[in-house]
Amino acid sequence: MPRPKMPDGLYVSVSQVKTWLMCPRKYELKYIRGVAPEFVPVNLAFGSAFHEALAGYYNEIKVSGAPLRRDLVLDTFRAAWAKAAEGDVPLQADDDDDPGVMIDKGVSMLHAFYEQAGTPEVESVEHGFTITIHDVDTGDALEEQLVGSMDLLIREEGRIVVVEHKTSARRYTEDQLRHDFQLSAYQIASRESGLGDVALRYQIVTKTKVPAVQIADVHRDERDEQDFLRTAGGVLRAIDAGVSYPLRGWQCRTCPFQGPCEQRGSS
Ligand code: SF4
Repeated sequence: MPRPKMPDGLYVSVSQVKTWLMCPRKYELKYIRGVAPEFVPVNLAFGSAFHEALAGYYNEIKVSGAPLRRDLVLDTFRAAWAKAAEGDVPLQADDDDDPGVMIDKGVSMLHAFYEQAGTPEVESVEHGFTITIHDVDTGDALEEQLVGSMDLLIREEGRIVVVEHKTSARRYTEDQLRHDFQLSAYQIASRESGLGDVALRYQIVTKTKVPAVQIADVHRDERDEQDFLRTAGGVLRAIDAGVSYPLRGWQCRTCPFQGPCEQRGSS
């Protein structure tokens, strides 16, 4: 089965690995067959618009030393949301997220963010990386390069902190903070791309009635890194072997490939 390619060769990202683990058929439809999505899930568009507003906030600190004004942060969010709503692919809400209330929700979440964000020393915003990853057992370089983009790099007490922004229905649980392999991957990527020994942090803004900002510093050790590499390697081997099957569950509700999935039947 052919895998996603960039001009420089084969690649894999954390979100691709997560997509395959969530549903191999969704991965196949999206990345192998290149099927166009029937809609953009509201949650996804909301998260992108929110990230864009935060990127504007931190970019201004990097450029001028002061944060972007609050009204301009809100404008950035509204403009990104409007662009998503007017895009060629329609937005579709799930049961929890009516598009009509999402702007008000986003604005109130950004106010909560703005109250606590402060003025950190910004190193980089949307920091892209492409690194070689290795098989944990043999040490051989994998054919696929790991690509991705870290939301924010700041410097605290001489050390780089990788900050991952999230919007979430509720605060992250200890299990989510402990086991999400995204920051394990970013720790590997930071070291391999010359950023050295970094600290890792989640900045989560909740969509609760009264939004809250959860700042969580997390630690990833060698075993966490190996777990990620084994997971990514296992997924890549499964893709190479042509493994694809529908994994039905809560994820189907917001899946933009429901139609093509049904056409392929239950095999
Ligand atoms: S509808 Fe469900 S089973 Fe089908 S591709 Fe989407 S997530 Fe997978």
